[in-house]
Amino acid sequence: MSHSGNILGLSELEVERVDRNDEINVYARPAKRPPCIYCQHRKVRVKATYQRTLKHTRQGNQVMTLHLKSPKYHCPQCGRYFRHRFQGVRPRFRSSDAFRLEVFEARDGGVTQRKITRTRGISAATVERWYQSQCPCDA
Ligand SMILES: [Zn+2]
Repeated sequence: MSHSGNILGLSELEVERVDRNDEINVYARPAKRPPCIYCQHRKVRVKATYQRTLKHTRQGNQVMTLHLKSPKYHCPQCGRYFRHRFQGVRPRFRSSDAFRLEVFEARDGGVTQRKITRTRGISAATVERWYQSQCPCDA
């Protein structure tokens, strides 16, 4: 099985490790360093790396959790700092866009809140909040 930079809708990631137990845990990092978001300078430095843990999606009946190495960069040209921006993952959210969309669709398709709560490991209040916001991707 190949993980060539695209796990279920998240591109530009390099998968380092996949652990399959009761859940699937995927460890990944950005495939490449972006240019500076302020001045487009191409040689930014990694200042620090944080780990972000996100619910991503399900494979069969297993929840996939994504452990992302999230670098903070320093640009030597303009002197500013910025964090890596992952496609499909919003700053501060603890789940990917794909995951929220999946919950929305399950709820919209008539899956009970109780079942979603059990199978996705999120609270009923969260399900309702995402559902009420209509399109979770714009929330
Ligand atoms: Zn810069």
